[in-house]
This record gives sequence, structure tokens and C-alpha cells, in this order.
Amino acid sequence: MNQPVRVKVWNEYRHEQQIEWIGKIYPDGIHGAIAAGLREYPDLEVTTATLDEPEHGLTEEALAACDVLLWWGHMAHHEVSDDVVARVQKRVLEGMGLIVLHSGHFSKIFRTLMGTSCALDWRVADERERLWNIEPGHPITAGIGPFIEMPNSEMYGERFDIPTPDKLIFISWFEGGEVFRSGCCWERGHGRIFYFSPGHETYPVYYHPQIRRVLANAVHWAAPRILAPHECHQMDPRETIPERPIDTSAMGNAAPPPPEK
Ligand code: ZN
Repeated sequence: MNQPVRVKVWNEYRHEQQIEWIGKIYPDGIHGAIAAGLREYPDLEVTTATLDEPEHGLTEEALAACDVLLWWGHMAHHEVSDDVVARVQKRVLEGMGLIVLHSGHFSKIFRTLMGTSCALDWRVADERERLWNIEPGHPITAGIGPFIEMPNSEMYGERFDIPTPDKLIFISWFEGGEVFRSGCCWERGHGRIFYFSPGHETYPVYYHPQIRRVLANAVHWAAPRILAPHECHQMDPRETIPERPIDTSAMGNAAPPPPEK
């Protein structure tokens, strides 16, 4: 068997602890529910981390042992340390996969990697969402069928201020009329990034079998192909380059005299 994919599910873990009825939907936290879904796959080695752990559970060592990181955050994005964000960004550029979930669109790490505001329109009205699978041949949609239907969802609507995805996987329709790019892929450095929008904390989204399948597919897709730091070298030529004067003829009379040898 190949090496297992080392997966870490990160969650700010505040709503579930602060609001009793949300805690009843996710008694082990949102991270616990996501991790349980992923643990159904024997080739995935799944751990979790939360905001209130030292260094948010994302130390150098923890990230060095992580192939794919999943990120759920909402009310405490501002509490995530900039040092940890820089560390995660570096690891993504080196090749770690990153899966950003739901309100993670406003996380520091996602905005850093996208370079845009990542703003969107929203509404909580318990409405129906249908996520259309527009890339049925993509590994992330394997086994999903033509669409995923969520009986209750938070509306996320366009315009979503992101760079145009390298690949758009899902487009959502909402009962109230809006549409949204709900499954988007990018590459940054060697790392693959997937944003997947369903996951509002007041609905049992992460127990939905198709949502779990998409997350497992996305983890497999985002697993690193290489993990390599980016370095900058001054290079000696591999072939001999003959000495030649700098050609200044295009500058006409403005050309400086050649240097004295
Ligand atoms: Zn939400």
C-alpha cells in the first residue's frame, strides 16, 4: 500500500462551544464530524487541530507532518496569528494541499493565497441549495452524480470576489434565486487549493454522505505531488558563454562609451 495521506482538519471551534444547540449538532465539533467522515478511508491518516491550542495546533512540526489541511473558521478569523498564516502559506507553496470550507472564504490564509477580498453576498433562510456538478470527469466529483441537494443551506451568492478558478467544479443554485461558484480549484506554488462553500454551522452539512464524499475526493486530489521549498539561486552557466560587449546600438548617440578595460 502507498504511504497514507496525512490529513489535518483545522477548526476554530467556537460556535459549537458557545451556543448549546449548535454543540448538539456537532458534539465533537465541526472538525470531529469532518474527521469522522475522512476516517472511513483507510488510506487517510486524520488528525485535528483547533484555534485555542498553542500556535493553533499548527506548529512547524505539525505542518511538516501534514499533506492536506482542511480549514473551517468564521467568527475568529482575526484571532489567527499572522505568523501561523505565513507558515501555512509557505507550506502550501511547497506543495501541501489546502481545502477551505464555508466561511473560511474570509480567513486570513485564503485571502492571502487568493490576493482578493473574497467577499460574497449571504443570507440565512434555511433555504434549499442545489450544487450542480459541472465537471463530472474531475476527481473531486467522482461518485457524486449530477448534483448535490441540501435541504437547508446558508445562501452564498455572487459576486464572489476571487481570482478566476483554474477549474470550477460546482455551481450552486439557491431557492431564493442566487447562484454561486461553490467548488473552485486553484494552484499556488506546488500546492493545490480547493474551496467548497457548504458548511454553515447551524445545519448538519458535514454528515451528508455526498458532502463527505466530496471532501474525501478533494483530499486525495490535493495530496502533494512534490514537497519542495522555493529557493532563489545565482547560477553559474552550464555551458561556456563567450565574452561579448554589451550592444548599445539601439541607444544611438545616447549610448555611454564602452567601459575601459
Ligand atoms: Zn455560515
